Amino acid sequence: MSLASLLDRAATGGRLTYDEGVRLYLEAPLNELGAAAHYRRLQMHPGNDVTYVIDTTINYTNICNVHCTFCAFFRHEGSKEGYTMSHDEVLEHVRFAAEQGATQIMIQGGVNPELRLEWFTQLFREVAAQFPKVDIHSLSVSEILGLAKVEGKSVEEILIALKESGMKSLPGAGAEILVDRVRKRISARKVGPEGWVDVMRKAQRLGMPTTATMMFGSVETKEERIEHLDVIRRLQDENPGGFTAFIPWYYVPYNTYLRGEEASGYEYLRVLAISRLYLDNLAHLQASWLTPGLKMGQIALFYGCDDMGGTILEEQVVKLAGATNQAKRADLERAIRDAGFNPVIRDTYWNVRGDVALATATA
Ligand code: SF4
Repeated sequence: MSLASLLDRAATGGRLTYDEGVRLYLEAPLNELGAAAHYRRLQMHPGNDVTYVIDTTINYTNICNVHCTFCAFFRHEGSKEGYTMSHDEVLEHVRFAAEQGATQIMIQGGVNPELRLEWFTQLFREVAAQFPKVDIHSLSVSEILGLAKVEGKSVEEILIALKESGMKSLPGAGAEILVDRVRKRISARKVGPEGWVDVMRKAQRLGMPTTATMMFGSVETKEERIEHLDVIRRLQDENPGGFTAFIPWYYVPYNTYLRGEEASGYEYLRVLAISRLYLDNLAHLQASWLTPGLKMGQIALFYGCDDMGGTILEEQVVKLAGATNQAKRADLERAIRDAGFNPVIRDTYWNVRGDVALATATA
């Protein structure tokens, strides 16, 4: 089949095989790949709206026993630079976010074996009681598995306890590239691809919406990026709607043990476009502007993305690796409008939040 026919098929929702995905990703000219992805995005989400969520990430501890080589954030147990916030400190951060209209918080940190399940369930109960309009979209697969280990409980038991305390959904952090060879190089102490999928599957079966991420640009090949997409697509086939969104972002190599080079804007756009085309069963593709910046985030809206992600009022993990981008709500809205779209506020579950006013007036 010619590249043009393959692009036409993918643009109209035809499923790509792994080999076809690799071929399009490696060979299709950028603009044609982007045009097909944008066409597909408009088919899936007709109209001119681009959503965003008012959220923040609270990195409650940097102590971690997983030691990923790409991570500039973690500190070993006993390190003078290690910290763990008290519940009151976390609640202060939530208050700050809620006062700015946040509807979602991500409480995420290292895998700190000192923190037991009760520490989290008490915290989430407090957050849910004090800030009922804020969704707790928190913890990564690694943190869930860390809790299962220290408690000697199953993943289901941990997830049920967290859900009952107010954590209603699980972000897709910690996926990086779901290929064994890559994980052994960059996060050898994390579970393999099947282990990550298993936690997500269990969360989805408990009715917890999840997202899926991809951190690309470390040591993986381009073919392995498509393998990653394939892992996500297979689980979504098994559990339709289990993943609400896919969020690809690139590795930021500064202050890390692994080092390397940042992916280019060109590569970022190629990844977005092939993700939109390959993940034919996943509703939303998010422009993760935090690493490439808002200007690249605007271009991403023409390469398959229908969502501008979150305001991320605070965040440390990516910042410490060298990402310096920041944006206020007004900046996000302006970026969306300047690109020709209408900014719309959503929540964690992609409900439009008409009760939360835009930061900027409509023209
Ligand atoms: S990426 Fe997460 S799990 Fe890995 S070292 Fe950093 S904090 Fe720990």
